[in-house]
Amino acid sequence: MLIKSAKFVKSAVKPIHYPDTELPEIAFAGRSNVGKSSLINKLLNRKKLVRTSRTPGCTQTINFFEINNELMFVDLPGYGYARVSKEVRKQWGPMVEAYLTSRENLRVVVVILDIRRTPTSDDMNLIGWLSSKHIPYLIVLTKADKLKKHKQKQQKVKIAGIIGVDEKDIPRFQREPEKAKKNCGKGYWNIAGEKIIKSSEVCSPFSETSAST
Ligand code: GDP
Repeated sequence: MLIKSAKFVKSAVKPIHYPDTELPEIAFAGRSNVGKSSLINKLLNRKKLVRTSRTPGCTQTINFFEINNELMFVDLPGYGYARVSKEVRKQWGPMVEAYLTSRENLRVVVVILDIRRTPTSDDMNLIGWLSSKHIPYLIVLTKADKLKKHKQKQQKVKIAGIIGVDEKDIPRFQREPEKAKKNCGKGYWNIAGEKIIKSSEVCSPFSETSAST
């Protein structure tokens, strides 16, 4: 997809704060520090539209970005960061659950995992919960540059097996290197971007057809 415009619209903690729009939404979820901001920024060709966090776990709002006046990217707060207070952790569930269960614009949730790590219980809880609610999701594995190619493949197969999806349906991703080797990772960005957009073309989890399946 050619990005002609990408802009931050608003932050929300409650449904009443969500933007008043009918544009389809792609939500991004993942453990704090997994590389979610880097992924969204790169997909949008922006260096800093989404703040990459130096303090993991500090973003505790749902952030909406409008792309090309065609669709919205929704950045859900990262989960599982041990050093946030209990109070903050308690808010995460209801805030995100309210969005995922009530937002009619939602088409797909991109669940972001670190290619080097076995999915945590938080990751598995989210994936299991999305399945139980019939909310479509797509797994993306970040930080591919941290592993050699053959190790990437091994991890992809292993993670796909744990989750129970086809490894061919899992794109890899890596952030743009800060220096030298610009465009290193372009193949991954393109494939991940295409799969994400394609996965958002499925019908809404709230539509009658998908409710009946
Ligand atoms: P978020 O908390 O999930 O939004 O994660 P960020 O995008 O802020 O990234 C967390 C840290 O991981 C930062 O130090 C990033 O520079 C680093 N990071 C993110 N993506 C990659 C990647 O693809 N490769 C490498 N090597 N580091 C990454």
